[in-house]
Amino acid sequence: SSGSAGTSGTRFDLERETELRFEVEAGERVQLELLSGLAEVFGSELNRNKKYTFGPGSKIAVFTWHSCSVSLSGKTEVAYISKDTPMLLYLNTHAALEQMRRQAEKDNERGPRVMVVGPTDVGKSTVCRVLLNYAVRLGRRPTLVELDVGQSSVSVPGTMSALCIERPADVEEGFSVQAPLVFHFGSTTPGTNIKLYNKLTSSLAEVFSQRCEVNRRASVGGCIINTCGWVKGSGYQALVHCASAFQVDVVLVLDQERLYNELKRDLPHFVRVVLLPKSGGVVERSKDCRRETRDEKIREYFYGFRGTSFYPHAFDVRFSEVRIYKIGAPSIPDSCLPLGMSQDDTQLKLVPVSPGRDLTHHVLSVSSVDDDAEVGAGQSRGILESPICGFIVVTAVDTEAKVMTVLSPAPRPLPRHTLLIMDIRFIDLK
Ligand code: ADP
Repeated sequence: SSGSAGTSGTRFDLERETELRFEVEAGERVQLELLSGLAEVFGSELNRNKKYTFGPGSKIAVFTWHSCSVSLSGKTEVAYISKDTPMLLYLNTHAALEQMRRQAEKDNERGPRVMVVGPTDVGKSTVCRVLLNYAVRLGRRPTLVELDVGQSSVSVPGTMSALCIERPADVEEGFSVQAPLVFHFGSTTPGTNIKLYNKLTSSLAEVFSQRCEVNRRASVGGCIINTCGWVKGSGYQALVHCASAFQVDVVLVLDQERLYNELKRDLPHFVRVVLLPKSGGVVERSKDCRRETRDEKIREYFYGFRGTSFYPHAFDVRFSEVRIYKIGAPSIPDSCLPLGMSQDDTQLKLVPVSPGRDLTHHVLSVSSVDDDAEVGAGQSRGILESPICGFIVVTAVDTEAKVMTVLSPAPRPLPRHTLLIMDIRFIDLK
């Protein structure tokens, strides 16, 4: 028995292996409470008699292995119970990965490296979250590798990152993001600079492998790699590149049989390619919706999230204090390239940017590279491979006084003075 989506306190009784799916209306909040039994949200267990709040646009599934009763209050767009969920298949996948970790432990080998692929909106990030949660609940220390530059679950959009998972995701806020390793990509689609995308994938793989060599738990825990929904052409090639860079053992293909067949054909035979259905609960998001989510992610970076408010700082930075670069020169015909230079070189080239009014609203990554590091003409080594230590947004540019005003999470001065420009903009309405 279950009620329809009301405005306050509707009770839902769920049978074993079913899930309650709901979406929060724009401008609304919904509260969820577990009344009895056991339930989880994307692999994180719910506590009894605790109220969980979900903001506008959230799309949530409360799943139960045994049975439970929950109550929902607030305005939902939809709320219904589904008996048709792929959770059992996801659990079996987890069990197979756990078996590999146990074997790795015994043989002093490394644990499973898993890549999750599929078109947009098939629940890739959700599957990653479920698998990471189940692993960490068993005491494993898996690593999340986030390669989705459009919708990163770890950092602001336009970045590629890795995060060691040490506890299950918070039901409302996701994984706790402490000390992630973040690289600057600069745009929300890999296609803007596929060379850079592949290069950063390799850099992340290298750092992860180095960590595995010195940290046994990280090595046994393995990694779960979330990828972009672009699965054709260079997007497909980027998946193949990623599989080889990380030496993945398992590829989980969500929903698309064609992609599954292509990967089976193109990856080495020892890679296990598995086709998994997507959940009927995954909702397609419009372009606008994706843009809003990206915006929200940047806003959270500066202003915090619900319970934890941050108070960002605004201050002036003299042009002479910083060096600003864009990665990648516009591509030019091969015949016009200087002798001995290839297109690769132009895509990975550091191009100095002289600050102008068009810099306003752009997000800039603050590189952790040494301030005195030599940067010769087009010499990008060092800067490309250096992680990011934070982000700022340019809120105003005064070309006469040669200063720009920036929004920063920390007070003046900037921790480092090498800035990388993103083609992502953020308008601070605060
Ligand atoms: P992808 O990574 O493939 O783009 P996501 O994992 O981000 O897809 O899922 C898209 C949206 O669907 C997210 O808002 C997620 O919370 C929601 N979602 C995923 N699984 C379910 C489900 N079983 N029921 C309801 N919503 C879901």
